[in-house]
Amino acid sequence: MIGNVRVGVRTRQWAGLCLGVLTCITAQTASAADCPGHPDALGTSRTLVVDPREHPRIGTMQYSETLPLEDHEVVLTFDDGPLPHNSNQVLDILASQCVKATFFTIGRMAQAYPEGVRKLRDAGHSIGAHTQNHPLSMNRMPVERARQEIDDGIASVKAALGDDAALAPFFRIPGLSRAEGVEDYLASQGIQTWSSDFLADDWRHISSSRVYDLAMKRLEEKGRGILLLHDIQARTVAALPRILHELKARGYRIVHVVPATSEQPATPTEPQQWQLHPPSETVAISHWPKIPNFVFAAADTLPAPSLSDSDWHDGQLVPPAEPFDRAGRVARGVPLPREAPWPRQSPHALDGAAIALPVPAQSIFEIQEKPRAAPQGLAPSSHHAEQTVPTGRETDGLARLISADAGDSRRMIPGSLPLVEPGLQRGPVEAR
Ligand SMILES: [Zn+2]
Repeated sequence: MIGNVRVGVRTRQWAGLCLGVLTCITAQTASAADCPGHPDALGTSRTLVVDPREHPRIGTMQYSETLPLEDHEVVLTFDDGPLPHNSNQVLDILASQCVKATFFTIGRMAQAYPEGVRKLRDAGHSIGAHTQNHPLSMNRMPVERARQEIDDGIASVKAALGDDAALAPFFRIPGLSRAEGVEDYLASQGIQTWSSDFLADDWRHISSSRVYDLAMKRLEEKGRGILLLHDIQARTVAALPRILHELKARGYRIVHVVPATSEQPATPTEPQQWQLHPPSETVAISHWPKIPNFVFAAADTLPAPSLSDSDWHDGQLVPPAEPFDRAGRVARGVPLPREAPWPRQSPHALDGAAIALPVPAQSIFEIQEKPRAAPQGLAPSSHHAEQTVPTGRETDGLARLISADAGDSRRMIPGSLPLVEPGLQRGPVEAR
C-alpha cells in the first residue's frame, strides 16, 4: 500500500512537472521497481525518442548539440563490440540493473560474432553502427572510402540482426575523427552522428578504478550527458557495476535513446534543450564554445576520444590498444607511443558560424602510460586482459597484427598539427 501511495505521489509530481513545461517528456518510465529480482536496481528512467533528421550531430565534445537530457540524466554508450567474453558480461551487468544503453558495433565484429549483436537486440538495447573496419582516419580518407566503411558496417550489422529495422540510424565515427564530408553523408542517409559528452578513457592502460573515477568526475562536471565506454574492455566490465551503483547513489537517472519511427514519434523537445549550455544574455552563441570540450585543464582529465581502440588492417582486426596489447608490444620490443602533450589552450575562439569542432590534434592521443601505480581495486590483471583475446587461429592473427598496428600507429599519429578539414577554421587546439 505504501508503495502504491508513493507511486501515486510520484505520478502526480511528474504530471505537475509536465503540465508546467512545454516540453514534457512523454516517454514512460521504467523505474527500478520494474526490475524483477533487483529491487535496488538503477533502472532506466525513461525512453527518449529522437529524430536523426532533426538533429544530425550530437555530443558536445565536438558539436553544439547533444541529447536533450534533464539534469542528472545519463545515456550510456558502448563501442567496438561485440566481443563475446566482455560484451556478454556488460550485458549481464546492465540486465542486473535493468539499464538500457546504446551499442555502436563494428561491422567486422558483427560478422565474427553475429549472435553477440542479436543479444544486444534481444536485451532491448539500441544498436548503432561504427564502420566496417574501424579505421581511425575517417577525417583524412577520401569520402568515397568513408562511405564504403559506413555502408559496409551498416550492412554487416543488419545481416547479423537479420532485420534492418533493428539497427538504429545512429553512428559513431571511430576515434571521433569527424569530418564534414562523413557527417554530411550520414545526415543524407538520415543517420545521426553521435559524438559524446564525456569519456572515461577506458581504452587506455588504466585501472578499472581509474575508469570509474574519470566517469564520475566528468559526469559531475557536466551534470548530465552521453558517456562513451567500450564493452570490449575488461576494465570497463570491472568498473561498470561500481559506476552504475554510484549513479544511483548520486541520484542520476538512465535514459534509453531510440530512433523515431512512423509508429513512435520523436519525444517533443525545444531547440534549446539540445544544447548543453544554451546561449544566454551573457554567453553569446556566436562565441560558443570558446574551448573545445575535449580540452581540459589537468592531465588527469584527459578526455581523448577513442583513437586507440580497435582498428582493422589488411582485413583483420587489430584489437583494442589495451587491455592486452601492452604486454604484447613490450614483449615484441615494440616501443609504445610517447606521452601525449597537452594541447595549449589558444586564446582564439571559434568563429560562431562553426557548428562543429575540428578533429582534435592526433598528437594528444599519443598516450604513454604513467608510471604504473600499485594495483587498485578491480584493476584488470594481465590474466584478465588475456581473457579478452579470442582463442585459436584468430589469436595468432591478432598477435601478428598487434605489432603491425604499433608501427602503423606511429604513421597515423604525426604529433604535429591538429587536423582540420578544408573549409573549417582551425580550432583552438594547437599542439605545435
Ligand atoms: Zn571505436
